[in-house]
Amino acid sequence: MRIAVLAGGIGGARFLRGVRVACPDDDVTAVINTGDDVTLHGLRICPDLDSVMYTLGGVHDEKRGWGRKDETWRIKDELTAYGAEPSWFGLGDLDIATHLVRTRMLEAGYPLSDVTAALCQRWQPGVTVLPMSDDRCETHVVVELDGARRAIHFQEWWVRHHAKLRPEAFVQVGVDDAEPAPGVLEAIAGADVVLLAPSNPVVSIGTILGVPGIREALVSGPAPVVGLSPIVGGAPVRGMADACLPVIGVEVSAQGVGRHYGARSDGGLLDRWLVHDTDAAQIPGVEVLAVPLMMTDDDATAAMVRVALAIDR
Ligand code: GDP
Ligand code: CA
Repeated sequence: MRIAVLAGGIGGARFLRGVRVACPDDDVTAVINTGDDVTLHGLRICPDLDSVMYTLGGVHDEKRGWGRKDETWRIKDELTAYGAEPSWFGLGDLDIATHLVRTRMLEAGYPLSDVTAALCQRWQPGVTVLPMSDDRCETHVVVELDGARRAIHFQEWWVRHHAKLRPEAFVQVGVDDAEPAPGVLEAIAGADVVLLAPSNPVVSIGTILGVPGIREALVSGPAPVVGLSPIVGGAPVRGMADACLPVIGVEVSAQGVGRHYGARSDGGLLDRWLVHDTDAAQIPGVEVLAVPLMMTDDDATAAMVRVALAIDR
């Protein structure tokens, strides 16, 4: 079976581990959000790609959720001692090596998709990991700051301000000229099923769908599309989706997100929508199934993947 998965960082990475367990012999392509990418201290940083790569490579920090396990922070401390800004972004020593290799390859002219493939040579994620686009397309958040209306980088909003500044809008700077990375449209068009990971519907899945051509490939493609709710009991399991969804007028509930994605039979995205077993949703044209959706370990995640995939083909 050929499976295409749209995913963000931590939620996406956990979900993909379950996909790998449920589908060990299948051909899985993960299309990853790069709207969170940022350049700091001259380093090109791709948080969601790295979360996926490290998590599937088994070298992630389980407790922190992002970055490498056994990480040290000596370089960050040195940068702080120099007064080199910004100091609010977590840059671990092991992580910096990844960013150095990536930045050097990008500066040598390799596209991000090639760089990602090269990095994955080391970590052997067991699935094909693709950035949504090779083009820079960074999410900015329109906020009121120091008495003025400003667009700040998503990382500044999330990491520096802890999503406390009320967002007026999320803007994908550069999206109009962005193209899907090589292999993305092919993976969707050639898939037997497309999965929307329980990732942030606005700043992970929404960002991927914003790249011209990707939403259309899902809506009109041959494969059924199955999504899993990141919202359980009216709140995100972790992260800031509750701050993001109201900005685009979507209720923070499994039903709200499912309706936002909409039925494929009605020009939307979904054929099937999985909600947590304590939730319910009614979405005309979409088969809704309530099953345990807590990704507590790979087996629990694999179980929801099996339900997601048991679709008429
Ligand atoms: P990020 O890029 O690191 O923010 O990660 P994603 O966008 O891929 O995933 C974030 C989303 O994953 C959040 O909205 C969470 O609610 C959701 N999430 C995290 N853990 C779980 C879980 O165990 N079950 C479900 N259903 N959603 C989860
Ligand atoms: Ca992210």
